[in-house]
Amino acid sequence: MRKYVLDTSVFLNQIHPDGVLFTIQEVVDEIRNSASKNYFSNLVQIGLSVDSPTPDSISDVKKMAEYTGDIGKLSETDIKLIALAKTKSATIVSSDFAIQNVSLALELKWISPDRKGIKSLLLWKWRCEACFYIFEKPLKECKICGSSLRAVRK
Ligand SMILES: [Zn+2]
Repeated sequence: MRKYVLDTSVFLNQIHPDGVLFTIQEVVDEIRNSASKNYFSNLVQIGLSVDSPTPDSISDVKKMAEYTGDIGKLSETDIKLIALAKTKSATIVSSDFAIQNVSLALELKWISPDRKGIKSLLLWKWRCEACFYIFEKPLKECKICGSSLRAVRK
């Protein structure tokens, strides 16, 4: 059976694929509303496991997210989810474009619970909105003129 790692959007949308299901404790902690909590309990009864990624896979995910430029868009929870998909050789189920993009870069399979998603790998850089200087990493402000930066495709 195919393995899937579920992110928070699965519990909000209440749509899951058939297979061996995993998530992480941080996602469970993010589930607030009672309908999503019930849905989580139902999935646990059909075999959903709460698991943790290996430290190696976490550092691989961080390195790749720095390369693609998604690191600033990913929370620790997002990074751990992708890392668990890598640890388990599982397909990640997420509607988050940054999660999808880094998964794609790591050659992990992913699906979106709302069936929308990115089509191809996006590499990001950051452009100053005032002087148009290009930075390879996300910064709080432009080093040249101090204006704010906008993510643009490489
Ligand atoms: Zn500037």
